[in-house]
Amino acid sequence: MSFKAFFVTILVILLAFSCKTKKNAKFVNSIQKVEDRSLSARLQELGDPCRDPMNYVPDPDHLDHFPIKYIKVNFHIIRDNEGKGNFSEVEGTKYMNQLLWSAQGSLKKNRKMNLPVGNDTPVLPLRYTYKLTPDPSIPGDDGIYFHNDDDHYYVNIKGKNRNNYDKKVFEKYGIQKGKVLNVIVQDIHLDSIGSKTFKASSNGIAFSTWVKGGYWYHTANYTEIVDGKKTYPLKWIPPKNLNHEIGHVFSLKHSWRRDGCDDTPMHENCWSATGKPPCEVASNNVMDYNPYRSAYTPCQIGNVLMTASRNPTKRNLLIKRWCKLRENKTIRISEDIEWNACKELEGHIIIEKGGKLTIRCKVALPAGARIEVQPGGELLLDGAEIYNDCGEKWEGIKVITEGDLSGKVNYYRASKILNSKNAVVMEEEMNQKS
Ligand SMILES: [Zn+2]
Repeated sequence: MSFKAFFVTILVILLAFSCKTKKNAKFVNSIQKVEDRSLSARLQELGDPCRDPMNYVPDPDHLDHFPIKYIKVNFHIIRDNEGKGNFSEVEGTKYMNQLLWSAQGSLKKNRKMNLPVGNDTPVLPLRYTYKLTPDPSIPGDDGIYFHNDDDHYYVNIKGKNRNNYDKKVFEKYGIQKGKVLNVIVQDIHLDSIGSKTFKASSNGIAFSTWVKGGYWYHTANYTEIVDGKKTYPLKWIPPKNLNHEIGHVFSLKHSWRRDGCDDTPMHENCWSATGKPPCEVASNNVMDYNPYRSAYTPCQIGNVLMTASRNPTKRNLLIKRWCKLRENKTIRISEDIEWNACKELEGHIIIEKGGKLTIRCKVALPAGARIEVQPGGELLLDGAEIYNDCGEKWEGIKVITEGDLSGKVNYYRASKILNSKNAVVMEEEMNQKS
């Protein structure tokens, strides 16, 4: 570099520094109330936002505002005293992994609804999945268990020996009860094999924190010869069962009836399409009875996600991903965004210039996370509760000022900032006049 070039470079650097206005960052310790008529009108419109499942429906333009929820699962295969009547250890381990993979696949790839005919129901991502979860107190555990028990290896869904609602099998064999969703896999009583009334049709039943799967072994092993080759046409039905039952655990009802969702029409619940009324078109919704069960409507997704967030019993079945700060999960707000649902987040929230974030429900932040309001950005707390769910502290609300421009933080309805290193108080409105 010549002396002249060096001189010019130094000059440019000096000029750049002298023109730059000073940036100032500070954690807020008090927040003032705003009066805004449009906010009370908006609240009237919203009703009780935190309890409205439609507010939990993922927004495809901002999927990062909806971190994926992981439901912990384990599997129990129950066999008779001799180890018969259900999967062997080798095939059971293999099949449960396949089943889980297939069930997760359906959650990953939502399908368009068949009903009502001509519908334009959006096909949204589900934002939840399953995670096979071993018990850390059992050495070498993989989360798939085998139990031999003459009294509990079979399930009867009909008749006087009906036992499908019997909870004893879970009481006896459940592992990490209440913390992991237990899947109990039973099959047919060996005395009933060969009976003309038995059909290998996989089924299931949902309880509060666990499910039963029935006849999965028979269904997975059901064979048909096609072109001289052995095939297993029903093998992929049990994963659909699992998704259906876990749908029940997380509040979903059968969708051919009234289920509280406007986007799941009532219908005849035909197993498959026959081309003739009333089964011209069969449903493919996960909460109907059909072999496809791969479509979830926005209302159904919203219900599952709201239940996962708000119902403490169901929330215990999730991996607490929101306890660990992940820098790459930082949410940047650069538009006018309203959060009218509870959220469990894994990163910082940064409100950029021109962005406005309104928070109306509970938001959990991991230790070390901060909310940063940059110059020209705005945060409005309207009934918000920002907290840490892991017995730790998040940082607090940091406001950046640059020259005359500052980040803005206000509240409207009473809000709470809990568990933050930099404590914040809500200042009462100064001039209270009605
Ligand atoms: Zn059902």
